[in-house]
Amino acid sequence: MNKLNIQGLVRENVKGLSPYSSARDEYVSDGSQMVFLDANENPFENGVNRYPDPQQRGLKEVLALQKGVKTTNILFGNGSDEVLDLIFRAFCEPKEDNVITLPPTYGMYKVLSGINNIENREVLLTTDFEPDVDQVLNIVDANSKVLFLCSPNNPTANSFSKNKIIKLLEKFNGIVVIDEAYIDFSKEESWLSELSNYNNLILTQTLSKAYGMAGIRLGVCYASEEIIAILNKIKPPYNVNELTQKRALERVLDIEKVNKEVADILEERALLSKALLQLNFVIKVYDTDANFILAKLDNATERYDQLLARGIVVRNRTTQPLCENTLRFTVGTKEENKKLIKVLKEIN
Ligand SMILES: *Cc1c(COP(=O)(O)O)cnc(C)c1O
Repeated sequence: MNKLNIQGLVRENVKGLSPYSSARDEYVSDGSQMVFLDANENPFENGVNRYPDPQQRGLKEVLALQKGVKTTNILFGNGSDEVLDLIFRAFCEPKEDNVITLPPTYGMYKVLSGINNIENREVLLTTDFEPDVDQVLNIVDANSKVLFLCSPNNPTANSFSKNKIIKLLEKFNGIVVIDEAYIDFSKEESWLSELSNYNNLILTQTLSKAYGMAGIRLGVCYASEEIIAILNKIKPPYNVNELTQKRALERVLDIEKVNKEVADILEERALLSKALLQLNFVIKVYDTDANFILAKLDNATERYDQLLARGIVVRNRTTQPLCENTLRFTVGTKEENKKLIKVLKEIN
């Protein structure tokens, strides 16, 4: 299908780099007893005295098998936020290139464009929270390197329509990032199966949401071998620490438990949506493909303060474009949701 010249999108200085070769890269243990005197580590064992595997081979092998990709299609980051930052640094020349984002959406794209000194061209979603494909294609120029699509989108909770995403993948002559942080809660399938059809596609996922591991910081990037090799050149060698690799591996191997928790959250999500709809001050409850619910209220800020005063913290999204008077409710445990509903009824 679409075959872009990826090397033509890479920053000049990155093209010339080769990955930093650490002590732990140079000799890969085959499991036999070796004496490691190469990395200036403290030799007394305590579980973390050795540098972690810079390529996280164990974790990659398990995940590759589960997801039906090759280990060379995977790169891990210190959260998907680090992966997103690596994408900026690989493809966007400061003060020259630009990225396209579609608000209302995840705030980090804008933050990272600021940090990296890259122009952020914003094209509002349509009123039904879909990408405005024509507008996006209108606003791009030769320096538009990356298009960020968040699907399911935060904070609107919907997945973008497949046709629109395909159009953008085929017509945008740059990197298309689909941020799938919430894909495990979605009725839609991941775009992973399309990876081999679009060499400009990058997918990001995370262990922070469905996998319940926001505290260990593990983000996952799936892309062509060519793109992964580019990102590997600029990734800090030990960006995923030993404790994170261990805990992530245990969790990924226990996928049944993750799936069970996701199923429970989806059940609770349906109950919470229904309860929200019955409140007088709720004007609209948006369809959700994620582990949160966006609702339009009579007065979001007043309701936010009332909830806060009663010990419940939600996210006020009223200042976001197209999100006037909305609150975003993360689906909690059964007990937490019960408490939320009780308090909502009290202030109704
Ligand atoms: C929560 C979230 C992430 C997760 O970021 P991590 O750095 O992996 O915790 C990524 N993208 C979106 C849209 C999110 O809402």
